[in-house]
Amino acid sequence: MSDIILSEKNRAYPPESYISKIWQAFGSTRKIFNLNLDKTKKIYQLTALIKSGDCDNIDVLEDELEKEKIRITEAAYKKIPEYDYLNEVDSTILQQSRMKESVAWKNYRRQKRDGTLAKKQAQFLDKLNGRPMDDKEQYKFSNLCKPKFKSRKNSKQSFKTTNVKVDFVNNQAYFPSIGWIKMKNPRKLGKAEDISGKTFKYENGQYFVVLHYRKVHVELLPKTGKTVGIDLGIKDVAVTSDGFKSGKVPSINEADIRISRDQRNLHRKVLGSNNRSKARTKLQRSYLKKSNQVKDFLHKLTKKLVSEYDEIFVGDVPSQLGLKNHNLAKSTAESSWHKFKAFLEYKAEIYGKKFEIVDEKYTTQLCSYCGFRFSDISLSTRSWICPECNSKHDRDVNAAINIRTVGSTGIAFGKTNIS
Ligand SMILES: [Zn+2]
Repeated sequence: MSDIILSEKNRAYPPESYISKIWQAFGSTRKIFNLNLDKTKKIYQLTALIKSGDCDNIDVLEDELEKEKIRITEAAYKKIPEYDYLNEVDSTILQQSRMKESVAWKNYRRQKRDGTLAKKQAQFLDKLNGRPMDDKEQYKFSNLCKPKFKSRKNSKQSFKTTNVKVDFVNNQAYFPSIGWIKMKNPRKLGKAEDISGKTFKYENGQYFVVLHYRKVHVELLPKTGKTVGIDLGIKDVAVTSDGFKSGKVPSINEADIRISRDQRNLHRKVLGSNNRSKARTKLQRSYLKKSNQVKDFLHKLTKKLVSEYDEIFVGDVPSQLGLKNHNLAKSTAESSWHKFKAFLEYKAEIYGKKFEIVDEKYTTQLCSYCGFRFSDISLSTRSWICPECNSKHDRDVNAAINIRTVGSTGIAFGKTNIS
């Protein structure tokens, strides 16, 4: 058994009479977040300017910086007449919003450290193809991974509270300054007393209550003694070294066709019109539907894999597909690989299994039987016969077997044969 921190997202149905209070809480949360973000941004800018020495009024700037560094609490903002409306919202909600802002910067610094930012910058430049950036692009580039101001127009809104009141008998959660809100069939992953807080969310026209558990008891899955290698792809999201092929994400083509249609529809509508906002909601729903389908498929697939195997090795993103030539199917595949790995990683941890990403260099080209490197494989080669030992290989299964070998031994199979 293991104890883990877990969140549970449940569809919620607030009564009509709560809606204005809920949106007031969203608005106040955004305000606190944006006020804090504005301050942090100024601190960053002033610090950079002073450091660069590229200014002749350094004393003034330093004074200004000291002033910005003094944090203003929610309680102080509440006293400013302009922000009087903050008094109508529960203080834990406002406090959580301030903390969210500082977590957002922490995430930014982590992404800067671990190379995510550099990767995104490289992708951005790659798309430009050598063309100089215009002002808009320059702004976007310098703000990659950084926290963004929250807008009323976002299709996602949320607020969080550390209030822990939940009633599992009537399936409802209490939000201070709002009231009890019904949840649809909560899974009840843990006990009510293990809840550390709650988030109320709005996403594309639907409401959700997310319960945050401090700890959830999870039974470990029984050991099977089996090890598997997994090759990621588009036709099949995952192909295993045992020959299992997952198939592509279900109805992905239909979902993409629906999204393209909704996008075209949206662009045909007059800016600011009622019809445009209707078309936008429709497009958001299509995105949501697709995302749910993909998640559902990947959850089932990853659960199956952690149940069947003790050690799971997954090849790094297929490099031969390249990052250029973006289209919808490709970006869907990329995001599904990313989710697949993330789901596998946390499920392996929860259920006491091992998960590792391995470098998949040459895994497509090496014969998994004798180690011969057959470099004559193109993207369209589905199967091949090893000229050295005559083994017949399915391209993806062979790659998955090599990934398993690399993962479990730590050395690439047949490495000695690579000239
Ligand atoms: Zn061979």
